Amino acid sequence: MIVSEQKPFEEILRMLKGKDRVFLVGCGDCATACKSGGLEQLAEMDKLLNAQGKQVVGQAVPDSTCVAAKLKSELSRHMPQLRQAEAVVVCSCGLGVQAVKDNDRFNLLVVPGCNSIAATVMDAQGNFLEKCSLCGQCLLGTTGGTCPMSLCPKGLLNGPCGGMNKGKCELDDQRDCAWVLIYRELEKRSQLDMFKKINPPRDFSKTRKPYKKTMIRTSASG
Ligand code: SF4
Ligand code: SF4
Repeated sequence: MIVSEQKPFEEILRMLKGKDRVFLVGCGDCATACKSGGLEQLAEMDKLLNAQGKQVVGQAVPDSTCVAAKLKSELSRHMPQLRQAEAVVVCSCGLGVQAVKDNDRFNLLVVPGCNSIAATVMDAQGNFLEKCSLCGQCLLGTTGGTCPMSLCPKGLLNGPCGGMNKGKCELDDQRDCAWVLIYRELEKRSQLDMFKKINPPRDFSKTRKPYKKTMIRTSASG
C-alpha cells in the first residue's frame, strides 16, 4: 500500500492559479485507506475550494486510480463534468496523479493533491509500516525476513553499526535495531551462519529508473 498525505491547501491553491473550474479525483484503494483521497477528503477539498471561489464541477473515486482500466471506466462516467473543468486535483499517490495525466483526454492541468510517503503494509491495528524500499535485490531470504533497507535508518547491508545500544537504534532509542532483530531471528532458526556472511555492496544497476515491466497474461492467470 502506498501511503500518501494531503498537501497543504495553500500549495494546492497556488498550483490552481488562474483555474476556476476544478474536477476532483480520489482513489478508492490506498488513499482511501490512509485518509488522503477518499470520499470524505474530497468533500472537504470541495468545501475549501468553494470558499476560495473555485467551482468543483465533479468528482470521481476510482477503485484504484493507478490502474488505467479502472480509472478510465470511472472517468468515462464523468465526461460532461470533465469537459467543463480547467484543472483536475488528484488526491492519491504520485502514481494515481500520473495515471490521470496519461488518461486525460481534455489537456487539463493535473495537480497533485497529496505527497507520497512510503510503500507499506497495514497491520491489524491499522498502522502503516514501511517494510520494503523496493531495492530490486531482495535480501529477506538471508535476513530472517527483516528488511535492513527499510528498518535500519542507514540502510546498512551489514550490521549492527557501532551506535547500537542495548538492542536499540542509535538514531531512535524507541526502535529496535534492525540488525539485532535479524540476529535474533536467525538465531531462532539456527541460521547464524548467514549473519556472519558479509553482504556485498548494492548493485545500483538493479534499481534502474525508469522501470518498465510487461506482464504477459495467460488464460490460467485470468
Ligand atoms: S531487501 Fe527490503 S527493500 Fe529490498 S526488496 Fe527486499 S524487502 Fe524490499
Ligand atoms: S543501530 Fe542498528 S538500525 Fe540503527 S542505524 Fe545502526 S545498524 Fe541501523
